Amino acid sequence: MPQAVVHVLFTIIAIDVFRDHFIKNKRKIPLNYVFIGGIAGLLPDIDVPLFWLLNNFLGFNVPFFHRIFTHTFLFALIFLAISLIYFDFNKKASMLFGIITFGVSFHIFLDWLLVGAVAPFYPFYDAAYGLNLVGRLGLPLAIEGLEAVVLLWWLWHEEKTHKISDFI
Ligand SMILES: [Zn+2]
Repeated sequence: MPQAVVHVLFTIIAIDVFRDHFIKNKRKIPLNYVFIGGIAGLLPDIDVPLFWLLNNFLGFNVPFFHRIFTHTFLFALIFLAISLIYFDFNKKASMLFGIITFGVSFHIFLDWLLVGAVAPFYPFYDAAYGLNLVGRLGLPLAIEGLEAVVLLWWLWHEEKTHKISDFI
């Protein structure tokens, strides 16, 4: 996985920029939804502590799994389905699950783009895909630099649109 901080940071920034420039109505996506979106951006990697828990704590001797069940379209579709079920009678819950769908999908996209491969059609089809930019370009340092650049750009964006320095 790219580092956890990349997943959380990039997801929060993507949702926040979308909220500022496309939705434009902050009540529709309150700040706690953005925060939950950031957690959803990390959610697919729950398989890492889950494996650890099963093996080291609960005494199951399961073979190693990572990027299998939680890095698929099927996993993202679960949250999309919940969002659609809520759509007609609870807009807030629908929006929240829509954001979670985005966070999970964005995680899978970043894994596909940056490191290794994912098998998005599992369990129907096993083929794995990945641009693996970090591995292919051999640029671990550059990617750490990238997250710093994205963070700085976002702080600049927040200052320009919300004058956050007034609150510091
Ligand atoms: Zn992952």
